[in-house]
Amino acid sequence: MITETTSGNRGLQQAEPLIFETGHATGTGVDLPAPKGAKDRLGGLKRKAALDLPGLSEPETMRHFVRLSQKNYAIDLGLFPLGSCTMKHNPRLNERVARLEGFADLHPLQPTSTIQGALELMDDLAHWLCTLTGMPAVALSPKAGAHGEFAGMLAIKAALEARGEGEKRKRVLVPSSAHGTNPATAAAAGFTVDEIPGRADGRVHLDDVKAKLGSDVAAIMITNPNTCGLFEPEIRNIADAIHAAGAYLYCDGANFNAIVGKVRPGDLGVDAMHINLHKTFSTPHGGGGPGAGPTVLSEALAPFAPVPHIVKRADGSRVLVEHAEDDGEAFGRMCAFHGQMGMFTRALAYMMSHGSDGLRQVAEDAVLNANYLRARLKPHFSAPFGDRPCMHEVLLDDESIRPKGVETIDLAKALLDEGYHPFTTYFPLVVHGAMLIEPTETEPKRELDRFADVMIALAERVNAGDVQFFKQSPQLTPMRRLDDTRAARQPKLRWRRAGDDAARKAAE
Ligand SMILES: *Cc1c(COP(=O)(O)O)cnc(C)c1O
Repeated sequence: MITETTSGNRGLQQAEPLIFETGHATGTGVDLPAPKGAKDRLGGLKRKAALDLPGLSEPETMRHFVRLSQKNYAIDLGLFPLGSCTMKHNPRLNERVARLEGFADLHPLQPTSTIQGALELMDDLAHWLCTLTGMPAVALSPKAGAHGEFAGMLAIKAALEARGEGEKRKRVLVPSSAHGTNPATAAAAGFTVDEIPGRADGRVHLDDVKAKLGSDVAAIMITNPNTCGLFEPEIRNIADAIHAAGAYLYCDGANFNAIVGKVRPGDLGVDAMHINLHKTFSTPHGGGGPGAGPTVLSEALAPFAPVPHIVKRADGSRVLVEHAEDDGEAFGRMCAFHGQMGMFTRALAYMMSHGSDGLRQVAEDAVLNANYLRARLKPHFSAPFGDRPCMHEVLLDDESIRPKGVETIDLAKALLDEGYHPFTTYFPLVVHGAMLIEPTETEPKRELDRFADVMIALAERVNAGDVQFFKQSPQLTPMRRLDDTRAARQPKLRWRRAGDDAARKAAE
């Protein structure tokens, strides 16, 4: 089989250098007359050397970006089993609605009398989020899951300070299976992180939480369903114990898609929880668009919610409370304006088009699909918690293939050649060689079977002892196996034209 070609192209996939390598300052896609009568107003600060921007003709520009886009894997192209990330189909209806000029073309400083529709949309979204979570308040402005965590932890901090316990309560409990953003958020908000060690069943136990409680504990950050894809059955008792100890329960709600319409986090005793609109409510994320992480808050934390708030007046119009000073105990604000309007629009379109029964079915189908994959893959891979049903994602590990010389990373690379973006690798950290697979509810059975067939064929290849095949994977991608460690430790963040380094050295 050929793995290299003369052109560097692979079949109809075109090789494409960096734009700086192909373009040249004199190339251009436009032909404009020189401006007449323009006066130099730079006061002698005019650039002396050429800027060296890459210029390309219009067709070349088009091709450059289309070629790059074809190197991208996308949810519109195939199943994207990246666990924890909820890569699901984004209905085009959402995109259509988000592009309506009355939502898309607003300026954040426009007078509120001219943005009443947008404020109503945000209010409606807030209502849906509060209803679905069973919580009384929501801060819409955080711009990602991690940002929402930060909002929640700052609300907890403000509540503790208001109680005069800000100095005393500094410890935040975080299970070792948590997403890395949880301990990072706690630390960034000024708390110390105390890890609750993992247990063999992948769950957080009440006894382990109780053993850590004390008058210096501010909060616990718990994920439910957790990052092993399991529901935390002791959550209610954990909430009671946390509250009895005078602390708060932060819930990482990134996995809300597994329980939306089925379980209201407010009923579980949650005090604060962010919702990744870009996961549960479908909006694009990763390379596909910005995120939004609204944070719902309990009665106890609601007064400390950051500004802005929308207030509805008696005449039905809406106004914005913009300044923390005008808002009692608000801890401040999370971002310059109101949050990600485009995401709010998409999320509300998604909710309204599904309806409450449709959202419940989202959770049911997401869990069904994950369990279907669990059932098909379990005979071929080791599944640390595979004897029981999972929630919206199934966790496998490389325990059964490692003795044969193949690890999680090798399997992930082989999957690339099969045309799949790999599952999440080596997360959660509590499971050695983790492979976290989240199919989401938008995959039909046919796609799940195609994926399972590929995974099973790869497992059989491991059993046949074809270790070399795995170590050489991927063979068909534009780049072969990269040195991930070096890429992370010594990233090349700037492109330099060949000879630049030599020229600089000579000049020094
Ligand atoms: C995605 C995710 C986050 C962080 O969300 P971002 O929007 O990427 O900041 C936090 N916790 C869990 C469990 C997640 O899956």
